[in-house]
Amino acid sequence: MPIDDPTLWEFATQAIRTGHARTAEGEHSEPIFPTSSFVFSSAAEAAARFSGDEPGNIYARFTNPTVRTFEERLAALEGGESCVATASGMAAILATCMGLLEAGDHIVSSRSVFGTTTVLFNKYLSRFGIKTSFVELSDLGAWEQAILPETRLLFLETPSNPLTEITDLQALAALAHAHDCLLVVDNCFCTPALQRPLELGADIVVHSATKYLDGQGRCVGGAVVGDSKLVGEEVFGVLRTAGPTMSPFNAWVFLKGLETLQLRMLAHSQSAQVLAEWLELHPQVARVHYPGLASHPQHEIALQQQQAAGGILSFELKGGQPAAWSVIDATNMLSITANLGDTKTTITHPATTTHGRLSDEEKAASGISAGLLRIAVGLESVADIQADLARGLDVL
Ligand SMILES: *Cc1c(COP(=O)(O)O)cnc(C)c1O
Repeated sequence: MPIDDPTLWEFATQAIRTGHARTAEGEHSEPIFPTSSFVFSSAAEAAARFSGDEPGNIYARFTNPTVRTFEERLAALEGGESCVATASGMAAILATCMGLLEAGDHIVSSRSVFGTTTVLFNKYLSRFGIKTSFVELSDLGAWEQAILPETRLLFLETPSNPLTEITDLQALAALAHAHDCLLVVDNCFCTPALQRPLELGADIVVHSATKYLDGQGRCVGGAVVGDSKLVGEEVFGVLRTAGPTMSPFNAWVFLKGLETLQLRMLAHSQSAQVLAEWLELHPQVARVHYPGLASHPQHEIALQQQQAAGGILSFELKGGQPAAWSVIDATNMLSITANLGDTKTTITHPATTTHGRLSDEEKAASGISAGLLRIAVGLESVADIQADLARGLDVL
């Protein structure tokens, strides 16, 4: 095996070892460098660092060794040349747009993206002359129709939240490139352990590290991954200038998260599959949305582009909102919260929380029915999760 070349390490090895250059102390675990600035050995060295003639640390808004370890490791896992860590997932999306777009440019975005992403595009980027059109995630024709001469960027999440719709990334990358656009994928739901969009032709991957990369609900953070020009220069330029950088402590927590990412994502997926199959047979359940089920409309694409189906599922109750709320209220263990990507299972009623500000028509168009519940399946015993859901479901 070619273990002498770290770039040839397999995923599980890179997730544990890439990016850590041991210091003279011989530490085994990655060190945290809580320092805002760095010192130079001479005036000449300071000048060379500032002019860019010599690489090296200057100030932690630009670079920090712990943050860099996280960036190098995530870049390796996504198969990208460069990674820039950010203070949050939203900062990653903002920095990507600021780095790659200018006034007059146009975005085509999936309608099924994180709610705050929609607000960022519609309310804030529009103030700076960047307009966005929204389309159905899995309708390739709709994407093509929405592309204008000034379109620069296509943006999506797959699988989507909460209905786990999937789009064919290879087909969308080909469409983007045929129109001189960049394909940006928010890879939050799958993480590189289950899906590597850059290998399928995407140009940029963005992350909310807050979710599965941490995996235990501790820190807020984000990242942008791509080539050394778009990400290493343009997005990095925004970060070092505008400053939504990741803290060294948070980078260290995310590094520890990456070490177990593959194991966790496979375990989340395994439990979600068990629950999805059980729910699909339950007499009170009208429909289950989970890419691992043969009944999922894009099951075949999921099998091709994902290593496993992921930890998020949603299902519709025959009894509408009263049934959905009583299932939530009957749980003793599940966490009633809209967060996801945690070892702790969470349960949400999208129609009155994450998608609550949509009008009734918008909810109907997006498939957010009153009886829909979303589960982000955690790593507790799947039997205990099932029993907690059954408490409410079996008495409906
Ligand atoms: C949470 C989330 C974000 C935003 O990330 P923050 O870290 O909360 O800023 C973006 N995209 C998706 C898919 C998310 O789930």
